[in-house]
Amino acid sequence: MLTAIYAGSFDPISLGHLNIIRRASAIFDEVVVCVTVNSSKTPMFTIEERMELIERVVKRLKNVRVDTSDILIAEYAKKYEHAVLVRGLRAVSDYESEVQMAIINNKINRKLDTIFIPSSEKYTYLSSTAVKEMAKYGTDLKNFVPREIIDDVINKTQANRR
Ligand code: ADP
Repeated sequence: MLTAIYAGSFDPISLGHLNIIRRASAIFDEVVVCVTVNSSKTPMFTIEERMELIERVVKRLKNVRVDTSDILIAEYAKKYEHAVLVRGLRAVSDYESEVQMAIINNKINRKLDTIFIPSSEKYTYLSSTAVKEMAKYGTDLKNFVPREIIDDVINKTQANRR
């Protein structure tokens, strides 16, 4: 069984992320969406909240599950017999850091390769940071995040303002 590990902050999950998850779930036997701790970012949602939002959104994708890890993803991947990392590539600007990370991960775990899935052109501009910024200005989020979580993003934005 080949497992795709799709790791990231997902703060919150966007339609760009969901597009990558759907496409990976059609290619691999199993997809594990792994919410990771990114100490250089101040998160909007806690890890548990982010996991719950993703679970809600991927409910119908039967070979997708959600997990979290606070260890290096290259170490985490050793839990699986056959695993690859999946990353979404948006613009050329993603390329350099993504390839660097792929090489480092492979140095730490020689069995681990990274597969890049190009972002759908509809979402090449989309990031969780842009979602949070738009939410602050009351922009309609329906083209940016899955509809099941729009209210959660609005409510959290309002709560943070208080
Ligand atoms: P990280 O903080 O680890 O970069 P993100 O949650 O921002 O985590 O992104 C996780 C993965 O999803 C990365 O591979 C990133 O390139 C990819 N990604 C983010 N936004 C999009 C998008 N709009 N389209 C395709 N891939 C995306």
